[in-house]
Amino acid sequence: MTRFSLILGRFSVPASIVALLLLSTAAAASWFEDVQSIMGTRIHAELWADEAAVAEPVLAAMMTEMRRIEDAYSPYLPDSELSALNAHAANGWMTVSAELFELLDKSREVSQMTHGAFDITYASVGRYYDYREGTRPDNELLETAIKAINYRYVELDAMTRSVRFARPEVYVDLGGIAKGYAVDRCIQIMVDAGIAHGSVSAGGDSRILGDRRGKPWTVGVRDPRREGAMAAVLPLTDTAVSTSGDYERFFEQDGVRYHHILDPSTGDSARGSWSVTILGPETTFTDALSTSVFVLGPEKGMELVNRLPGIDAIVIDAQGRLRYSTELAELAPVD
Ligand code: ADP
Ligand code: MG
Repeated sequence: MTRFSLILGRFSVPASIVALLLLSTAAAASWFEDVQSIMGTRIHAELWADEAAVAEPVLAAMMTEMRRIEDAYSPYLPDSELSALNAHAANGWMTVSAELFELLDKSREVSQMTHGAFDITYASVGRYYDYREGTRPDNELLETAIKAINYRYVELDAMTRSVRFARPEVYVDLGGIAKGYAVDRCIQIMVDAGIAHGSVSAGGDSRILGDRRGKPWTVGVRDPRREGAMAAVLPLTDTAVSTSGDYERFFEQDGVRYHHILDPSTGDSARGSWSVTILGPETTFTDALSTSVFVLGPEKGMELVNRLPGIDAIVIDAQGRLRYSTELAELAPVD
């Protein structure tokens, strides 16, 4: 029940000191924000600072960091480090940057924890889907390409910081973890700059630093079947939140919804849920876990969440029912 009691726990500073602090900064301090389109999604950053001269360089540094991460790990940019990996790692050991190695290592950790529900080699099949065009691999292509899905085919050697693909057809995509990682990096930029209250969101991945000066931030969980409506609103402080939904990128064919979260065991979209929201301390993990729990389905997914300390979840299953992890269920409204 950590996060919700934290909201109250943060008010342990004597009120007189808080009042003094408020008086001394009230003159110029305010909220500053920036919104940009990066990584194919909407990036929103907001922070509290004494003046624009403090806030603006921090906001700019966060957006620069987002662009750097996109340039490094986008599979669509031929010059990205990820594209180089996909082009050459099947030919033999390849030394990569410390950051890419860490992302691959974290991805493997989540794969092990989820018994392969999270698997960056999903893209060996995933690359043949085009959600904008509404096209998908035919059965013949799927049957061949799926043989290259297995996180164990991405071999990592920590000593030499090298990577090798065990099969030529392996193709990786960090779309299930990179945005969360980018949000964590931005939060670190704020912390390093001495910012105490802020939030960063990249599409479905958000993280909150501190509170909203005396009250919690609120993060909404979208209703997956009613555009613009909310299924839940969460009051939060110092928390990471990631949502994976089947409504982000999809097309329909013969009444079947094909969307961007693939079950690595079938190469087809996972259909046990409409949306999965994960709460935890860091977006790198909540991002990867929201994708994983989506693949695992509501039953197995919730079992995993309930085993992980400090992690909570809200799942909207394929019947449209809201399900909460054990800790959240005690706080959630009865519906
Ligand atoms: P988004 O915020 O991009 O909508 P999600 O957190 O829901 O993302 O993750 C979906 C993305 O994760 C996909 O676009 C794809 O890049 C990647 N992905 C899809 N299926 C898997 C999987 N089984 N394991 C790891 N990554 C996946
Ligand atoms: Mg995710």
